[in-house]
Amino acid sequence: MSFPDSFAWLPHAPLHRLELDWLCQAGVEVALLRLDLIDPLISGNKWFKLVQHLAAARQAGAQGIISLGGAHSNHLHALAAAGQRFAFPTVGLLRGHPQDTPTVLDLQRFGMQLHWLGYGGYRARHEAGFWGPWQAQYPHLHPVPEGGGGLPGALGCLPLRDQVQQQLPALGWDDYHGWWLAAGTGTTLAGLVLAEDGAHPVHGALAVPDDHGVAQQVESILRAAGRPAQGYQLLDASRGGFAKVDEPLLAFIRSSEQQCAVPLEPLYTGKALLALHEQVLAGRIARGSRWIFVHTGGLQGRRGLLAQA
Ligand SMILES: *Cc1c(COP(=O)(O)O)cnc(C)c1O
Repeated sequence: MSFPDSFAWLPHAPLHRLELDWLCQAGVEVALLRLDLIDPLISGNKWFKLVQHLAAARQAGAQGIISLGGAHSNHLHALAAAGQRFAFPTVGLLRGHPQDTPTVLDLQRFGMQLHWLGYGGYRARHEAGFWGPWQAQYPHLHPVPEGGGGLPGALGCLPLRDQVQQQLPALGWDDYHGWWLAAGTGTTLAGLVLAEDGAHPVHGALAVPDDHGVAQQVESILRAAGRPAQGYQLLDASRGGFAKVDEPLLAFIRSSEQQCAVPLEPLYTGKALLALHEQVLAGRIARGSRWIFVHTGGLQGRRGLLAQA
């Protein structure tokens, strides 16, 4: 087995206006870039983050991909679905102990081979010797970092800007003020910053607390690309922790979903939209301004979450 040429698959992300009463009242216009709609199985920013990793794997002569994530991982889900679609083998290293979340059941159904690392074993993933034994066991697989991060992950997101530019006329917009999106590792944000090259600012709503080092990761990607650390802002939207959801957030998501008929995902897109809402109410977003807000997908992960709630 080896990688086919079909990685040239560049899915189309629809862009449409987001109609919400608080935006309307504040005179702020938002267009939603629907990465959740690019494909029935391979959802969200994770496909874009994978593209250049897959290209690197093919160039290295690898036959498949080994990567890692949690039991609700959107990254592993997209990777496993891509492996099934394009017929390359995938191995997933999972955080914690075996459990049958809806995501894990999908990974198995898509043919991904799973290894559970426990919590300590997973924590060792940043250590120098981590990949050695796995590469010995799977010499034909190319390792991809958690979430599909790093410079290759960011470079895969460059086409998003063109997709937006192409769809502006249909909205009746000739330009926009900037971007809003959720940031987990900041890889997607870094890709948009690279694509914009200073033309429009990118606002990242942090879905994880400060100590996750997102600012450093964004800087390191930009440095690797030989670009200055500018053209973006990060603000905290984590609400006390990754995967922490509270009643005000859930109520905000419910009322937004009723108004705009777009399914939101609570850990990233819901938190980012609530952060935008707070900025709008605080008068920090200019009347008459126009924004691109990215729906980063990940609705598959919400199945397990809502079941727990
Ligand atoms: C992974 C993920 C993000 C965060 O993307 P980064 O590139 O890590 O910042 C945002 N939204 C969803 C739904 C995700 O799965």
